[in-house]
Amino acid sequence: MIKRFIRRVFGLREGAPLRIPRSKHGLAREAISHGALKVCDVLQDAGFSAYVVGGAVRDLLLGIEPKDFDVATDARPEQIKPLYRRALIIGRRFRLVHVMVGRETVETSTFRAAVEDAGATEGEAQRVQDEHGRVLRDNVFGSQAEDARRRDFTVNALYFDPASESIVDYHGGLADLKKRVLRVIGDPATRYREDPVRMLRAVRLAAKLGLTLDAATRAPIRRLAPLMERVPPARLFDEMLKLLLSGHASACLRQLRDEGLHHGVLPLLDVILEQPLGERFVTLALAQTDERVRTDRPVSPAFLFAALLWHEVLATWRAREKRGERAIPALEAAMDQVLDTQCEKLAITRRLTATMREIWGMQPRFEHRSSIRAQRLLEAPRFRMAYDFLALRAASGEVPAEFETWWRAFQSADAPTRKAMLMPESGPTQKRRRRRRKKTAPAGGTATPA
Ligand code: ATP
Ligand code: MG
Repeated sequence: MIKRFIRRVFGLREGAPLRIPRSKHGLAREAISHGALKVCDVLQDAGFSAYVVGGAVRDLLLGIEPKDFDVATDARPEQIKPLYRRALIIGRRFRLVHVMVGRETVETSTFRAAVEDAGATEGEAQRVQDEHGRVLRDNVFGSQAEDARRRDFTVNALYFDPASESIVDYHGGLADLKKRVLRVIGDPATRYREDPVRMLRAVRLAAKLGLTLDAATRAPIRRLAPLMERVPPARLFDEMLKLLLSGHASACLRQLRDEGLHHGVLPLLDVILEQPLGERFVTLALAQTDERVRTDRPVSPAFLFAALLWHEVLATWRAREKRGERAIPALEAAMDQVLDTQCEKLAITRRLTATMREIWGMQPRFEHRSSIRAQRLLEAPRFRMAYDFLALRAASGEVPAEFETWWRAFQSADAPTRKAMLMPESGPTQKRRRRRRKKTAPAGGTATPA
């Protein structure tokens, strides 16, 4: 506030950036994707400035392969679009352009002003804040210096010019990268108030990049963690998914807990991270996911969320059974209950919840090793996922290991071996059936192998 006031009164400009030549940072034009190079070249030929910016520059400097390349320019969306054959103006909160080059999509955005500059940008301010200082909408074009200041961390505000191979650095991001420090640009508490998701990003990026949170960046997180409550569920879901699929999910969640952020993020984390059995199950699930991400194997978000919420479902299911509900309806009700609570905070998409329900719903069916039932389960569309889930339950000690070994052998066996493996339907199932037929006391607890 005071800085902004002084700047306004004295008409002071943002400090001049460092322009760092290739000889000092080592990043070459060749490291940039074909699409991003093309977007920059075309914009520059048309007389605009254009830079590769954000995560890609940061990752390349750290020797990590970037997921995608973003471009920032002083051209407005309507000036960018006609320069390319395939380009789309998108976004409501921020208008930006998607330029398609071959199979690559390059997100190309116009320099934007930071929140505190919005008032100074006459006529164009469309900034809306809620009563806690959270920015709701800010489509305000600005200078490159303003664009740098509205970014979250110093290491995310580096602009690489492919033509000169120099880096424009307003906030000492390159020095921080060398020191392996993640530092918020500006006053951390203010920046977290504007957008509480930045706290989550701090934890995720530190874990993913192996950086240490600067002390001032870290300090206010615990106090401001309750602000996460106000983040719209859809945004929280996107950020949470990024975190879980970063290849460093275990480290991220551990740090979320250390920073006291897990309470605000997901109601489920409250439970998971504080229960020994839940913790073992979730730890295994996360370790497995990290391993798959790091070895470039596909990961199903539905499987992951099903795993994260399993102990909630299990506890609710058991409680309902104890109250005398029958196993399968109790499980159905438990799934509804848990998903209702979680989706309030986290907009887990419908497609995802449908698969999660399938995975959970198939678990009791693994108990039946009679001919038709086992065979039918094997042919179910989501069998493989449900079986992997069972394997996780066995590994965590929730169900007997023998369960999983039987199903593993059964899957890969040939027809005659399978036939020999099938057990006659007996024990609890038949008893339950008989009981159900007599319509006496409802079956309790039998569907959950403990
Ligand atoms: P990732 O490797 O996960 O893609 P990233 O830093 O590139 O990390 P993006 O979500 O792709 O993350 O964001 C691109 C850039 O936009 C960031 O580098 C940062 O400069 C800026 N940015 C993203 N989210 C925020 C935010 N909440 N507040 C301020 N700046 C942000
Ligand atoms: Mg990115």
